[in-house]
Amino acid sequence: MATVKRELTKNFTSEKVVHHTKVSIIGTGSVGMACAISILLKGLSDELAFVDNDEGKLMGETVDLQHGSPFMKMPNIVSSKDYLVTANSSVVIITAGARQIKGETRLDLVHRNVSVFKFMISKIIQHSPRCKLIIVTNPVDILTYVAWKLSAFPKNRVIGSGCNLDTARFRFFIGQRLGIHPESCHGLVLGEHGDSSVPVWSGVNIAGIPLKDLHPNIGTEEDSERWGDVHKQVVSSGYEMLKKKGYTSWGVGLSVADLTESILKNLRRVHPVSTISKGLYGINEEVFLSVPCILGENGITDVIKVKLTPEEEALLKKSAEILWKIQKEVKL
Ligand code: NAD
Repeated sequence: MATVKRELTKNFTSEKVVHHTKVSIIGTGSVGMACAISILLKGLSDELAFVDNDEGKLMGETVDLQHGSPFMKMPNIVSSKDYLVTANSSVVIITAGARQIKGETRLDLVHRNVSVFKFMISKIIQHSPRCKLIIVTNPVDILTYVAWKLSAFPKNRVIGSGCNLDTARFRFFIGQRLGIHPESCHGLVLGEHGDSSVPVWSGVNIAGIPLKDLHPNIGTEEDSERWGDVHKQVVSSGYEMLKKKGYTSWGVGLSVADLTESILKNLRRVHPVSTISKGLYGINEEVFLSVPCILGENGITDVIKVKLTPEEEALLKKSAEILWKIQKEVKL
């Protein structure tokens, strides 16, 4: 029967489409959707799939985004409660889970989210056994460990967004003080994503000039310019936003899209992300925290052995101890 489609086009092939850069996002809350729009606007994937157990929200968010298709260079946005929709993903981003509530620390969230992960991870790996997992749900370091254990994936393919966001905030606040774009402000925050994170002041530099050379006390209690307040702002800003808008989304969404880009384009850029830190800086346990990692198509291919001052190393070990105290209690 003649149809408009048949009249308009002559088909040349019935070959199935193979997606090479499919990204799935589990959880269509504020964070999941901020990741989605950041990935879409960068044109990173050839299919974007969503899963959420709230069907109304899932459909609402999917259709809303689909209506923006004429303005995006990506044709396929799909969603379902069934994880089959995520099949053959290159990257699966997990943002689903219970949200941090006012006054609750990230570590308090752990028990509420472990049970959610048990079901989720088994379904993801069934449909995308070769994917790279990016964990965003808090407490992100502990849940990255949980995802690694539950998936039985090699360590390179399980990546916690970790201090990628804390580092972005750190560079932003430094840039604000100096009147320099944050992209040109180089520095790292390592350790736990959150309260015990460690600012690596010894490495902060602009155009290769270490700020410590200009101001030896930078970041310490004796610092007359109180640069340590920058890190305090980093730690408190998540809590501040929870108070003000009830959640955080744009910063983390953009930072996760940046990680996704390094993986899908095999860029081999260095990102402070959460990975197993056993054997580094005198850490003896299988604890997950952020260290600078090279990210490419195989996930984390290498860890950069950053030289820390004895004080910074002690802080990192303390952060590892804080995380380990919780992590060792997790029953899987
Ligand atoms: P949200 O409540 O808006 O969204 C969570 C979504 O997950 C909801 O849509 C919910 O329906 C869904 N969900 C819950 N359980 C599910 C399940 N079992 N299966 C499928 N979907 C399920 O929360 P949010 O503001 O988007 O935050 C999401 C997570 O990201 C939180 O844990 C938050 O603390 C974390 N977060 C992490 C960072 C970071 O840098 N790592 C930054 C900000 C927020």
